[in-house]
This record gives sequence, structure tokens and C-alpha cells, in this order.
Amino acid sequence: MELITIKDLCKSYGNGGKKIDVLKGINLTVNKGETIAIVGASGAGKSTLLNIMGTLDRPTSGDVRFMNEPVFDYDGKRLAAFRNRTIGFVFQFHHLLPEFTAVENVMLPALISGAPFDAARSRAAALLGEVGLSERLGHKPGELSGGEQQRCAIVRAVIQDPGMILADEPTGNLDARTGDEVFALLLGLNRDRGTPLVVVTHNERLASRMTRRIMMSDGSLTEG
Ligand code: ADP
Repeated sequence: MELITIKDLCKSYGNGGKKIDVLKGINLTVNKGETIAIVGASGAGKSTLLNIMGTLDRPTSGDVRFMNEPVFDYDGKRLAAFRNRTIGFVFQFHHLLPEFTAVENVMLPALISGAPFDAARSRAAALLGEVGLSERLGHKPGELSGGEQQRCAIVRAVIQDPGMILADEPTGNLDARTGDEVFALLLGLNRDRGTPLVVVTHNERLASRMTRRIMMSDGSLTEG
């Protein structure tokens, strides 16, 4: 079943003489349950595509739909609520809030969507326990290792039971072994929950473990 359909997506930055065409007519369908690696040279447009798939950035032209819904037609508030419920993000740098503890960081998306405090906290604690961090609930990000920070960021991404996880170089800042563990965790979420996973990665070995591999080159896609 189709989760995202992207047709003739173009994205340009700047204006006048300085306009850069970053995405040049992308067509892509993401189906439920899939795992997709997006690979390609730096500057090819991978993050731009992922950010548009996550509704963090808007297309310049083209048609992007989630379950056939034209979400970019939503107003800002409705789009933000859609994003909060539907999309889990994992970035290269964890983007955890430094002043908050692990459990507070993880429960934030649930609180933002109006979940009761106690329910959000117990769900966050349970998820952190599932990834081996039950002893770290009260630690701030600066008191966690790189791998622990990323595991915390991953459970923050899934607390809302998103329809899709988007990850931009999630292992790029980790040593090989820790990166493998984090990648295994993402693949496990796909296997156990069926959550589609789209990962931008430079790591061909990890990319080969995904069901589809998409190569971006100068703003265009080729598959295979
Ligand atoms: P990749 O993820 O493949 O490394 P990006 O999507 O980050 O590539 O960037 C593609 C191109 O778009 C780069 O040339 C980059 O400089 C440009 N770009 C990305 N974001 C912006 C922006 N906000 N304003 C202007 N140019 C941008």
C-alpha cells in the first residue's frame, strides 16, 4: 500500500541569478513496511528530499501526498500536528535538548500532542527500557555516550507510533560498532512494527541491508 507518492518534485533555493535547482523532477513511491536507503555524493540533494518527505521543507513544485492527502495544502498548525503524529525523525546529531533528561526528551512529542503527563512519562520510560536505557532515565544528553544519545533520539522518534521513520545519516557520528547497533535498532523497529524506514546514509554496507536502494545524483534519482 502506498504511503507517500511524490510526482515531479522540484526544489530550488535562492532567487534571481543565484537560484540553485536542488531537486529536478523526483518521482518516488514509498510503500508501507519498506526500508529504503538513499545514497549519493554530498550535495546531491538527499537531505533536501528527506526534509520534504518529512514536511520540514516545502516543494517548489510537484505533488507530494501522504496516503493520498495533499498535506502541503494544510495550514501550518494542521501540518505541524500531522508531522507530530505521523513522522519520526532521527538525525546525524541527536538534537536532544541538553537541559532535559533522557525521559523528558522522549516524552516531549507526546506532551506536545496533548498526552497526559503520567501516561507520556511511563511510555517514554518503557521505550527507553526496551533499548537498554532504563538506568539512564534521569541522565541529561551530556551524560550519555554517543550510542546512548542516538538510542534515546530513536525512541523519541517512535513515541507517537509514527507512520514512518526518516533518518538522516543516523550512524554518521558513531564508531562502526555503535553505528551497527543503532542501525539494527532501526531495522528492528521496521521488523517488529512494520514502520517504513527511509535512511540517508553514506554507508553502503548498511544500505545493502535495506529492501530498496535509491541513488541521488545531482538532484535526480535512480533506483537499484
Ligand atoms: P546532501 O544531503 O545530498 O548532501 P543537501 O540536500 O543537503 O545534499 O544539499 C543539496 C544542495 O542544496 C547543496 O548544494 C546545498 O548547498 C543546497 N542547499 C541545501 N539547503 C539549502 C538552503 N536552505 N539554502 C540554499 N541552498 C541549500
